[in-house]
Order: sequence, then C-alpha cells, then structure tokens
Amino acid sequence: MDISKIKEDFPILNQEINGHRLVYLDSAATSQKPQSVIDVLKRYYETDNANVHRGVHTLGSRATEAYELAREKVARFIGAPDAAQVVFTRGTTESLNMVAYGFARPRLTAEDEIVLTPAEHHSNLIPWQQVARVTGAKLKYIPLQEDGTISLEDAKKLIGPATKIVAIAHVSNVLGTIHPVRELADLAHEVGAVIVVDGAQSVPHMPVDVNDLDCDFLAFSGHKMCGPTGIGALYGKRKWLDEMEPTYFGGEMIDVVELYEATWKETPWKFEGGTPIIAGAVGLGAAVDYLEKIGMDAIREHDREITGYALKRLSEVEGLEIYGPAEGAERGGLVTFNLGSIHPHDVSTVLDAEGVAIRAGHHCAQPLMRILNVPATARASFYLYNTKSDVDALVDALASAKEFFQ
Ligand code: PLP
Repeated sequence: MDISKIKEDFPILNQEINGHRLVYLDSAATSQKPQSVIDVLKRYYETDNANVHRGVHTLGSRATEAYELAREKVARFIGAPDAAQVVFTRGTTESLNMVAYGFARPRLTAEDEIVLTPAEHHSNLIPWQQVARVTGAKLKYIPLQEDGTISLEDAKKLIGPATKIVAIAHVSNVLGTIHPVRELADLAHEVGAVIVVDGAQSVPHMPVDVNDLDCDFLAFSGHKMCGPTGIGALYGKRKWLDEMEPTYFGGEMIDVVELYEATWKETPWKFEGGTPIIAGAVGLGAAVDYLEKIGMDAIREHDREITGYALKRLSEVEGLEIYGPAEGAERGGLVTFNLGSIHPHDVSTVLDAEGVAIRAGHHCAQPLMRILNVPATARASFYLYNTKSDVDALVDALASAKEFFQ
C-alpha cells in the first residue's frame, strides 16, 4: 500500500488545523471519504436522482439500478450468497435494533437468555436490554479477562439450552479485542441459538465473510468504511430475514394494501419502508469499490503494522496506561489509553491544538468504563490513510499535554 498516494485520495486530510498538519486518528468514530465517493455522490445528484422502484421514467430506472447495484456490491463485499440478504439501514445501530425488535422480540419469553459481553457498544446493549424488559428474557454476560478478551471456556459455560441470542461485537471499539466469532457461532448453533454480530469495527478494517463467520446476522455502518453517513446494512441468513418482521411500515415496503390489512414485499424490500437512502447506498457502493481496489487483506495488514507501531511508541510515554490486549496480541486498528491523571478531554483538547484529532470519552461503552475503573479514556484509531508519522505526531502532542498539565 502506498499510503502517501492513498492520502491524496482524501481531500479533507490536506488541511491545517490550528497551524498544524491535520492528523486524523478518529476513524473508529467515522472515517474520512475518498474523492471517488464524493464524486459518485455528486454525479448521482447531478445526473440520476429520482425515487426508486416507482417512477416509470428513465431517471427512476437509473436510480433504481444504481441502488440495487450498490446492494450487490455490499453483498459481494461480505460474501453474502444473495444480494437480497442485504438490507439497507441507517447504520449499525438501526440494524441491531431491527434484529432485536423484528426478530428477537416476537420469539423470546421469560425462560430465554441473551448472551452478551460487558464490552459491547451501547448500540449492541440497549436494544437487548429493551427486548429483555418487554419479554422477560434474561441478559447474561461472558466475563472479560484481565486483558479485556473473553475465554471460550467461559462462553461455553454460559451458552446453554436457554440461550436464544448471542450478540457480540466482532471488534471492540474500545479495547480493539477481536472476538472469536466463528467459535461463538458454533457454540450458539449447538444449542439452537442465533448469533448477531456487530461488525461496525470489523467490516471496514478486515476481510469479513459471513460464510466463514457463520453468523446469523451482521450489522455495519457505511460511514466507518469510507462511505457516507446515514447508510449501513444488515445482513441476515435468508430464512431468518424471511421470518423477521419489518420495523417500519408504510410506502415502498408493501405488496397489497386493503383498508384493514396489508401484505409486504419480499426480503429485503419489506424492511425498507419509505423512500430509502438512495444516494447513501450509491455512495456506499462506491466506498466498497474503493476498499476492494486497495484490498481488505492489505488494509488489515496496514492496521496491524500501524497499531503495533503505536503500541510500541505509546508504551515509551511515561505514565501512559494502555487498555486492551497486550502488545503482540491480535487487535483491531485502535489504541485506548489514559495519560496519568489528566482527564482524556483535556488530553484531547491539547492534542487538537497541535492538529491531532483523537476521541475522548466513554466511547458508548459505559459498563466497560466501570470495569476499567475510569470515567473515560482517550482513543487513537487508525485507517488506511494513516502513517507512522501520524503516530509520531500523536506521541509528540502527548508530550506537550504532559508538559502543559505538569
Ligand atoms: N458498534 C460499535 C462497535 C461501534 O463502534 C459503533 C460506532 O461507534 C456502533 C456500534 C454504532 O454505529 P452507528 O453509530 O454507525 O450506528
């Protein structure tokens, strides 16, 4: 990968912040967009914009074709056997809510259990809390080990005949832990449960194949993978999607409507009530093209290298505590840390003054913050456009933060 060339694809990175070169280390929150995605969005609005699946006119056909072509691209990207197994949603949060409400809620009873980890993003926690509240099902947590990983032995003890749903992040957005999704899928299937995978931090960063994972559902967001905001996807096994109830009712998703009842379209269109996120989907298709051109293996390798370098450089900073798997262990492209007793918001403010953008806060994982026994942390996250010199800029800016608060 020629990172300096890749960097040129992202116009936003070519600017100064507070008199310094912008060093964007917040891609786990949202990634930047390459020119090709920006161009496709512009071109769509300039030449093809119309509503889909409706108008019998040329623009309507073009918009519909572009929208459905984007679905095929996304399906191919994750190895889905059929494009109809990809539902366009607003993102990971909406995808997970749709599974919780449309699939789990009608099936669960007070005898059933939902298995999670305490490291889940709120988007893969609160929908399950809500479903548990209305069905009486119990939430069970696979405990975290000292380094933030989970053990399959613990998972085996917890996943049993009462388990109906296992819901887990593929990659933790705080610790960077890569969870053993395939092994958990096998455990879930042995007891007749389904596994719902939050792929928000994995699909953008590594090759993800739904057949290899054998997951029943996979949720992810376009904006974290070089695509626009407001678009994401839900993959599901065909039989589950066919059985799952729609979440939104109204135009576009119906087949026949009578005064007192209605029938729905087939999967996936029954889930896409109302005018869909057409331009967003087309933009996501362009993002998939961009990522595929570079290659997901290469992107994963780059993440690995830059995260390894960051762990090494950050471990040299006196007083800096790093959370998550130890150096050398497999982890996603992010590093979460605290700098002594300096509040991460203060760290982030000083870093911003030097052009370095990181995330500070609870990262939508409040229960995990309690386990780590901190109110918040700082997080530097990397993507295909980051270089080792970005890591060096981070380390230099941390030295300034230390000096400022000493
Ligand atoms: N799950 C994880 C692991 C995430 O990192 C995020 C976003 O930060 C989400 C879910 C929610 O994604 P979105 O806000 O795009 O719905």
